[in-house]
Amino acid sequence: MANYTIKYNSGACIGAGSCVAACPENYSLGSDNKAIVKTKTITDKELKKNIAAAKSCPTLAIEIYDAKGKKVAP
Ligand code: SF4
Repeated sequence: MANYTIKYNSGACIGAGSCVAACPENYSLGSDNKAIVKTKTITDKELKKNIAAAKSCPTLAIEIYDAKGKKVAP
């Protein structure tokens, strides 16, 4: 069940890779040095590490919203 939505702004991504370090399950770096988000709909179980990824991003390129559209990270 997907409870949260990830919004990823590739234009803001500078390829720092901290999201990949924080949550390798859902983030990787593409050949263009931009993050690739595997799934943009995540469950409660996946939330903690994805929040860590969103908080680690120096350019705030990753945002997470709950089902009601309230921002939960960063
Ligand atoms: S942490 Fe942010 S800037 Fe770095 S790769 Fe991930 S999305 Fe891009």
